[in-house]
Amino acid sequence: MSAAAYESALAGVLGTAREHAEKVDREAVFPAESMAALRASGLMGMFVPREYGGLGDDLHAYTQIASRLAAACASTAAIWTMHAFQVDGLSRFAGDRLRQAVLPTIAAGGTYLASVTTEARKGADLFTAEAPLTWRDGRADFERDAPVVTGGRHAEAFLITLRRTPEAQPHEVSLVYAERAQLRIGEHGEWDPLGMRGTESIGLTISGSVSPDQVVGQPGRFEDIARESMVPLAHLGWSACWLGTACGAFSDLLRWLRSPTRRGGPDLGSDLVRERLARIRVDLDLVSAYLTRLCDELTAARSAGRSWSDAHTRLRVNTLKLAASELTFKAADSMVQLAGMNGGYSRLAPVKFERHFRDLRSARLNHSNDRMWPATGALALLDPKVTLL
Ligand SMILES: Cc1cc2nc3c(=O)[nH]c(=O)nc-3n(C[C@H](O)[C@H](O)[C@H](O)COP(=O)(O)OP(=O)(O)OC[C@H]3O[C@@H](n4cnc5c(N)ncnc54)[C@H](O)[C@@H]3O)c2cc1C
Repeated sequence: MSAAAYESALAGVLGTAREHAEKVDREAVFPAESMAALRASGLMGMFVPREYGGLGDDLHAYTQIASRLAAACASTAAIWTMHAFQVDGLSRFAGDRLRQAVLPTIAAGGTYLASVTTEARKGADLFTAEAPLTWRDGRADFERDAPVVTGGRHAEAFLITLRRTPEAQPHEVSLVYAERAQLRIGEHGEWDPLGMRGTESIGLTISGSVSPDQVVGQPGRFEDIARESMVPLAHLGWSACWLGTACGAFSDLLRWLRSPTRRGGPDLGSDLVRERLARIRVDLDLVSAYLTRLCDELTAARSAGRSWSDAHTRLRVNTLKLAASELTFKAADSMVQLAGMNGGYSRLAPVKFERHFRDLRSARLNHSNDRMWPATGALALLDPKVTLL
């Protein structure tokens, strides 16, 4: 798809996402209108190969779209991003029959794919699973607790991590594709978080039965899919969402500051105010530059058939996530400080920062930075030459 075609596909979605963002946040409900617009736009086919009617893979387009959507509605952007990176895993690792059966419908916007990786006791650890697949008469049964499922009430299909068999070790994780019609789904808990409220990431109990070709990739080898596709694309996509959210807020702030009708607020002649503006701008530019450069590097690696799972790439992907999640929230925090009590902190403020602030607070929790910092430190030890991006 050309840049102009992406632009026109996106144009129809942005207005809807912006229009409904406040309501979706206030009521903590799924952005049904924005999703309908996304389904109609062709953008749900991101990472579906062209031969199946999709958009193919273009990492720069992917992150640009995530950022632009997030400036309008961070929840809509996160929902789309999560769908997209799962589609990549499915497109690359599913067998032929499953690809032929599901990819055209995904490309046409008929199937929205939700993610089930978190589990109650093991938390965010992607590379282990507790609930097993139990094989009987050529089918696999499972019962899975899923405490956080974005769009879980609305998705037509799910990618679910499960232990390969009841006897398998926790790290022998299989990835299963299952459609809603194949599943019994119960809901539990309530969804009322501080931010990202429109993702409606409810708790589910999912049970069902699938055929062997619904196991995506090698049984027990989810790690390959995660490292070669889903983890790098998740961190690129989420980082783009956070950057877009922060840039949208900064743009609103600058417009308000420059408005001739503004009453009160900071003095633009003050060096302190200008320095604060510069610091916000520098943080956002640094995240943007790292994101773009990493997209270049990952694109080149994929085109050359090189793996994404080497230690250097993992270090860079983690670095992006850690930097983006911390610097974009820091920027939002500085914006609130700069705009002040009535300009930024109040829900009635002329610039609506508080939604962005709450949304961005989730960035460090999502694939918890507490887990990622030590893992990234271990990767840094493997590179005594300090090979920077
Ligand atoms: C907006 C949003 C949408 C999401 N959507 C989905 C979804 O669709 N599907 C899905 O499966 N999951 C989803 N998640 C879940 C997410 O990916 C994480 O799995 C989840 O946020 C982790 O939960 P937790 O905070 O309990 O952290 P855990 O990783 O379970 O950790 C629990 C606590 O221990 C701390 N901790 C863990 N390891 C360490 C360590 N090494 N050192 C120090 N402290 C540590 C953490 O900081 C945390 O306080 C979503 C999360 C968010 C924020």
